[in-house]
Amino acid sequence: MIWVMSEHVGFGVDVGGSGVKAGLVDLNSGELIGERQKLLTPKPATPDAVAETVRTLVEKFDWDGPVGIALPAVIIDQTARSAANIDPSWIDTNCTELFAKYLPGRKINVLNDADAAGLAEVEYGAAAGAKGNVIMLTLGTGIGSALITGGKLYSNTELGHLVIKGTEAEYLASSGARERDGISYKKWAKRLTKVLNTYEALLSPSTFVLGGGVSRKAEKWMPYLEVDTKVVAAQLANTAGIVGAAIASDTNLAP
Ligand code: BGC
Repeated sequence: MIWVMSEHVGFGVDVGGSGVKAGLVDLNSGELIGERQKLLTPKPATPDAVAETVRTLVEKFDWDGPVGIALPAVIIDQTARSAANIDPSWIDTNCTELFAKYLPGRKINVLNDADAAGLAEVEYGAAAGAKGNVIMLTLGTGIGSALITGGKLYSNTELGHLVIKGTEAEYLASSGARERDGISYKKWAKRLTKVLNTYEALLSPSTFVLGGGVSRKAEKWMPYLEVDTKVVAAQLANTAGIVGAAIASDTNLAP
């Protein structure tokens, strides 16, 4: 299918710990056009295996335009510089060269997955029009962070790796940690409170936007949080990464 660019359509891929999700996005509204598609994250999730999965997804949509890809890694000048929840061989991978092998002849833009989610929430979701300093956290396999001030992103912040009393924030309070330790939402909210209190003390945000799959069940744990800062659930939930990646696929909007 040939997509007319004036329709302002973007294509985003979100590479997660368990699934690689992709979708076409209407960049006027931030809504998905049709269903998203999901494939299991290859194991091990090496750069070539992930790029092959991304190609399969792009082909499923018959999409021949630019592609934005959200990865759980620090991305500087299109090169991965960390790999906390993905295969370590990503470190120092030049993503432009990698994806050009699998999707030649098109514009590819790679960014950190939490930054993608943050961009999406600022553009279309819970942080749209938010004043002051916003901290968006994605609570998934790890904890991803996006710092947004005055609607602009400070990229690659990695707050999930902040060590709090000897333990990394994401080891303590990611959604994956709750599952790993088999604890109740109430107990988990206590841990998350500790993490949020530390971010409050260090960064004095005006709003926390909490996302990731668990934000769809926010009523189960959000009431137990004890923080001074305003807390809101992400609005785009499990599509934020795709939508943010699609924003990055559009050269006019790319961060
Ligand atoms: C990674 C981040 C990522 C986050 C969420 C962390 O472990 O270091 O880069 O944004 O997980 O996937």
